[in-house]
Amino acid sequence: MFADIYSPVQQLKHHSRAQILIKRDDLIDPYISGNKWRKLKYVLKKAIELNKVHLVTFGGAYSNHLVATAAACARKGFKSTAFVRGDAVACIENEMLLLCRLFGMTLIFTDREQYRNKPLLFSVHFGDDPEAYFVDEGGASAEAVKGCAEIVDELMVDCPDGITHLFCAAGTGTTAAGLLKGIHANGLKTMLHVVPVLKGGEFIADEVLKYAGSTKQLVLHTDYHFGGYAKTQPALIEYIKAFVGQEGVLIDPVYTSKLFYAIDDLTAKGYFKKTDQIMALHTGGLLGIMGMKGKFIY
Ligand SMILES: *Cc1c(COP(=O)(O)O)cnc(C)c1O
Repeated sequence: MFADIYSPVQQLKHHSRAQILIKRDDLIDPYISGNKWRKLKYVLKKAIELNKVHLVTFGGAYSNHLVATAAACARKGFKSTAFVRGDAVACIENEMLLLCRLFGMTLIFTDREQYRNKPLLFSVHFGDDPEAYFVDEGGASAEAVKGCAEIVDELMVDCPDGITHLFCAAGTGTTAAGLLKGIHANGLKTMLHVVPVLKGGEFIADEVLKYAGSTKQLVLHTDYHFGGYAKTQPALIEYIKAFVGQEGVLIDPVYTSKLFYAIDDLTAKGYFKKTDQIMALHTGGLLGIMGMKGKFIY
């Protein structure tokens, strides 16, 4: 499975203000989408090496990571369990959790208080299960960083003339850390621009430093969160409608729309030079639209 990654580089043809290239990690898989596959690849490999056959992980009720983990485990013949943050009594149902269940994932609903101590939850439920393997929320780990660094190796083949500015959206910053590690490991001059999708995104720099060992060539753009994680504003919804209709490329309201909005805004403010090669990493997450369908009024 996944011997060949399908993630072509394309140009946004109708994009009004700048020549933007886009790395289509959203096309890797509809369910193990974008950076979630990059992050799970070496986690699964390590689990197999340790003779584990059951991934136990954590996420909110609309987590792309949960769907990706459920689908990847099903294909690998692994069991999967998720602690879902929310109400421990009410059984939450939505499109994302339906997909998790279809892929065979066991869901354990956990209130916010208990959810906070993930190692404790794991040890209480699976402490005596030698086949169970702890995977942190969002898949954050050194293995995830390694998988994301490979994106840069591919980009060197995709774009032999080099990339001036590489952009990605960030939640935990693990993907960004992997990209920067890849940039440094290959001795590239590329600047990594990170758009945190939550408020107070300055912490992303610490996360990147932790895994990449340096924040050289890192630029954070912390003003494009639109109110916070999974928050939108009418301007963002209008932006998504215009972008998708013009480009024929779907973007999601939680991550990639904030990324492209930031690139457009910086372009309009004259941030880039004409000769700059700008690349955006499409990290997928398109199922996130389902959680916000009510916001799209036509
Ligand atoms: C999870 C996710 C991210 C955030 O990745 P981090 O490594 O947590 O920063 C970005 N984009 C999409 C589409 C995602 O699903």
